[in-house]
Amino acid sequence: MRADEPLIFIVSGPGGVGKGTIVEALVRRDPRLWLSRSWTTRGQRPGERDDAYVFTTREAFEARIAAGGFLEWTDFLGNYYGTPTPDPRPGSDTVLEIEVDGARQVKALHPEATLIFVLPPSREEQARRLRGRGDPDDKVDERVRKAEEEEPVGRALADHVVVNDELERTVAEMLEIIEHHRGRAHHGAPA
Ligand code: 5GP
Repeated sequence: MRADEPLIFIVSGPGGVGKGTIVEALVRRDPRLWLSRSWTTRGQRPGERDDAYVFTTREAFEARIAAGGFLEWTDFLGNYYGTPTPDPRPGSDTVLEIEVDGARQVKALHPEATLIFVLPPSREEQARRLRGRGDPDDKVDERVRKAEEEEPVGRALADHVVVNDELERTVAEMLEIIEHHRGRAHHGAPA
C-alpha cells in the first residue's frame, strides 16, 4: 500500500451500542477522518437528523446497486443499507459505521482495513438504548435478537474490540487505535 493511500476504519457492532454517537465524536475530534454517509430504504425516525442517511426508495437503491455504485450493501431487517463508493477528502481517512455483514464485505475487498467492533457494557443497557429510539415494540424485539446474532460474528472478524462503557473513554481508545494504524501504514508495515 502507498503511504499516502487513505486508510479505512470500519466501526461496527450490534445495534444499540452507540456507534452513531461514537463516530460523530471521532470526526469532530480528528479532522483527518471523513465519515461516509450511507444510503438506506428505512424511513426516517422521529427526531432523526435529515443527514443521518441518504433516505431513498428501493427502486433508487436497486438502480445504484446495478450501476456498481456501492462499496458494500446489505439487507438488514427488511431494509437496504449501503456504503456508496467512498470519495474521501484528499488527505483524509475514511470511517464507515456499518453492521457486521457489511463489515465482512469490506474486509474481503480491503483486507488492510481496520475493523473496530464495539460492544455494549451490558445487554440491559443495549436493550434500553434500542427501546429509546422511537421504533415500535415488534421492531425493538427484532433488533435485540439481531444484535445477539451479530456479536459473535463481529468479534471473530474484528481487529480491535472496544467496550463502550463511557463515551469519552471509548472515543479516546478509538483515536489511539486510529493513530496506531496510521503510524504503521506510514512505516510500510501491513496495517
Ligand atoms: P439503523 O436503522 O439503526 O440506523 O441501522 C441499522 C444497522 O445498519 C446499524 O447496525 C448500522 O450501523 C447499519 N448500517 C448503517 N449504514 C450502513 C451501511 O451503509 N451498510 C451496512 N452494511 N450497514 C449499515
